[in-house]
Amino acid sequence: MTVFPGFTLPEELRVLRDQVRRFIREEILPLEQRLDPDAPEIPDEDFERLSAKTKAAGLWALAAPEEYGGGGLDTFSMCVVLEAMAQHRMGLYNPGCGVFGRYPPPAIWAGTRAQIEKYAVPTIREGRRTFFAITEPSGGSDPAGAIQTRAERRGDRWVLNGRKVFISHAHEATWGVVFARTDRAKGRAGISCFIVERGTPGFTARNIRTIRTSAVPNDVVFEDCEIPAENLVGQEGQGLDLAFDLLVKQRFPYSACNLGVAVAAHRMAVAHAKQRSTFGVPLSQRQAIQWMLADAEVELRAARWLIWEGAWKADRGEDARVEASIAKLYSSEVLGRVIDAAVQIHGGYGVSKEFPLERWYREARVRRIGEGPSEVHRMVIARALFR
Ligand SMILES: Cc1cc2nc3c(=O)[nH]c(=O)nc-3n(C[C@H](O)[C@H](O)[C@H](O)COP(=O)(O)OP(=O)(O)OC[C@H]3O[C@@H](n4cnc5c(N)ncnc54)[C@H](O)[C@@H]3O)c2cc1C
Repeated sequence: MTVFPGFTLPEELRVLRDQVRRFIREEILPLEQRLDPDAPEIPDEDFERLSAKTKAAGLWALAAPEEYGGGGLDTFSMCVVLEAMAQHRMGLYNPGCGVFGRYPPPAIWAGTRAQIEKYAVPTIREGRRTFFAITEPSGGSDPAGAIQTRAERRGDRWVLNGRKVFISHAHEATWGVVFARTDRAKGRAGISCFIVERGTPGFTARNIRTIRTSAVPNDVVFEDCEIPAENLVGQEGQGLDLAFDLLVKQRFPYSACNLGVAVAAHRMAVAHAKQRSTFGVPLSQRQAIQWMLADAEVELRAARWLIWEGAWKADRGEDARVEASIAKLYSSEVLGRVIDAAVQIHGGYGVSKEFPLERWYREARVRRIGEGPSEVHRMVIARALFR
């Protein structure tokens, strides 16, 4: 008879997670204490100093393929690590403040070897910013129907005309991927994916100020923006398949960041409830507070299992589209509820800039809209039920 081994993480993954936790505690938290609470980034010199340390410790670009200088971690392991990496003020949209590496938009992995060498490899090596441009003023929930940006073939060039909105990092990235219509008659199959370098004539980006402090989004205009023919990624008409197939796997690490920030907010709420007394009694002894914290604990554990199970399935090469929607939907909604309770338990301090809670509270709101609104993920889950 085989004995069921139980649920444990592999020893090397636990060691890696502990290393990341220690780095966040010893390097990132003290650094953030010295910065403006609304700082979108850490100063360049700190980025250089800390990324040199993570590189020396073998903690740089853990998720990138080994053949391109990364750590080759699978999605499941990245989820475990990112939960720890996101536990600081900037952590929701800038886990580890970027000092553990940054990644190109996943569509690039469907590109040619030459495209990967030219664009993905330097991004991974140097931790450069990139952008991913799909949303347009006509709507982001249904890009297949909404995309109006056109790409027209003229000789050995593609010419882009149109507008994208809410494109994070487009003003500061070195390059990004843009989804444009190459054939109006073909609907979804008439959309293609292109690499566009910032600074290409005809490309302009203007910041859009939002509730989010990190990763400023932009209104991007393409006006007769010419790019070389070889900047098409994958096949003509394959754009949306690339966007969605590759985004599925990304939803698990994204959800792990939601979980990490929620765990950090919950830990703060428990600590505060233990030390704060009102009417002569610690908050931790009030049932009203205990129930908020108990509910949060249950939801955090449920979210972790949903993320881990989906990531595990994706790593095995199985279809994990529904699991990705479940993880994204649930983790972003739990994040909102857990932070809301943590803010409430902290009273006035919950909304003061002395604590990270108010920034998390604002930024968490975006998580139910970006990367597909909650309603669209519910739609994906429901479709699978009725298929
Ligand atoms: C700060 C920020 C950063 C972003 N960064 C990027 C980026 O880097 N790249 C990029 O391409 N996009 C980015 N986005 C865009 C984001 O992905 C879109 O905002 C999102 O997909 C929703 O599109 P929309 O805003 O056009 O809303 P719409 O598509 O107009 O939808 C509006 C609302 O309608 C509801 N809804 C939509 N469809 C349904 C349905 N079928 N059933 C029921 N209700 C529905 C939802 O509540 C939804 O929020 C970013 C957005 C924000 C706010």
